[in-house]
Amino acid sequence: MGAQHGDMASGDTRGAAGGEHVVPFRAGDGTWCRLLNVRGPEAPTRGPVLLVHGAGVRAASFRPPTARTVVDALLAAGFDVWLESWRAAVDRPRTRWTLDDAAAYDHPAAVAEVLRRTGADRLAVVAHCQGATSFVMALIAGLVPQVETFVSTAVSLHPVVPRPAARKLRLLTPLFGAVSSYVDAQWANSRRGLVPALTCAAAGVLHRECGNGVCRMASFMFGAGHPTLWRHENLDEATHTWLGGEFGWCPVDFFRQMSACVRAGRLVSVTGNPLLPADFGAADVRSDARMVFLTGAANACFDPVSQVRSYEHFTARQPGRGHRLHIVEGYGHQDVFVGKDAARDVFPLITAELGAPAGPAQEAAGTAVLGRGGANVPA
Ligand SMILES: [Zn+2]
Repeated sequence: MGAQHGDMASGDTRGAAGGEHVVPFRAGDGTWCRLLNVRGPEAPTRGPVLLVHGAGVRAASFRPPTARTVVDALLAAGFDVWLESWRAAVDRPRTRWTLDDAAAYDHPAAVAEVLRRTGADRLAVVAHCQGATSFVMALIAGLVPQVETFVSTAVSLHPVVPRPAARKLRLLTPLFGAVSSYVDAQWANSRRGLVPALTCAAAGVLHRECGNGVCRMASFMFGAGHPTLWRHENLDEATHTWLGGEFGWCPVDFFRQMSACVRAGRLVSVTGNPLLPADFGAADVRSDARMVFLTGAANACFDPVSQVRSYEHFTARQPGRGHRLHIVEGYGHQDVFVGKDAARDVFPLITAELGAPAGPAQEAAGTAVLGRGGANVPA
């Protein structure tokens, strides 16, 4: 193991096997973030894959206490696995952030650091939820041209949420923003103060589907489903309990941006950052990555039509690029990663897509997937 640490210290991980290594990196605006490189017992035989977590969680959200996580599946397939902890990670100090910040500063720096450390020219990315939206922004803006394949789970360029969730975002975000700069699922465990107490009380009244306070708060924070982020029947008990420690804070600034994006029907910049287009739906796509859009047919957080629209958007602009769509029956939002059977039902789709060459044959297959999945999607 010492040899691997030595390799990391010299900034070169080529050929190293075994262990986990934390690699700090500096985002474009100077914010310190970090990467976790996970190596199996054998040296990787394939290139690097970067996993990007969503909002209100951390990189560890890809590693539930199930028998086989997506990290295990990628290692078994020979990939060199890197987990990005961007500024939204809940094991970092609380800060105000927007998707713009992540797109302009965090993801491009993470990609550059992985390539510098591995000596690879290109890499694959698997990004979930708000890790995916912010990463799509970076792709469209041309800030991460080194991405060869991009697997986006749950939502990409077109956030479509159920009507009650849209109403809640529109009405509650300004009210909440007047009294707090963030909301925290961990308030369920220590509700000190009036705002945490009232928020937990509201979550408790609206979400009676289980006895896990953080699960109920996560449902309240991120939509209006019962629950919002998974189907309880897809979780084993250990994972349901573990989720109670994974969800945490999320700034109201993010909810303001998501509210604007949901109203627009596509991602929009809210900071006027000159590195980003104002309207990502109207902008040219400055990336040649092959895009894979994946979601659960029962996603109660972002309607599966979100991914259908993004698949159609990128395929229309980049015909022949081989973009793909997978809508997985029986799955919701995050259970595509934390579900007890995700290793059987979902991870093989991801590893196959990362090994599949791009080309017209894949695009034809993608159209067939759309036909199957589209039947489950409300118009
Ligand atoms: Zn629950």
